[in-house]
Amino acid sequence: MAMRALITEAIGLVPDLPKTVGTGCGVRRPLAMTSTVPERVTCLACRDYARAEYLTWAAMAQVAAELAEAEPRAAIAAKATPADLRAEERTYLALAARFEVTR
Ligand SMILES: [Zn+2]
Repeated sequence: MAMRALITEAIGLVPDLPKTVGTGCGVRRPLAMTSTVPERVTCLACRDYARAEYLTWAAMAQVAAELAEAEPRAAIAAKATPADLRAEERTYLALAARFEVTR
């Protein structure tokens, strides 16, 4: 939103939202035909892509949690507790599970 406001101020025009977006399987689709809700994504390649992405994010959250446990001062400076990071990891794992395809 802040970026949109800045663009509007700078050029005096309200930018349109993109009409198409790149998808996980590498094609461009009309924005209105896409979704970030796992249960609404019907493209198998996109589901695999999203699942892999969320597993990567979960792994990064796990590493961050381990780092926060090992370096409590860094965690305090970053305002991220190990518990927060573990919760984040669980959130990503749950999302990855929702994208899993049972073939
Ligand atoms: Zn797709």
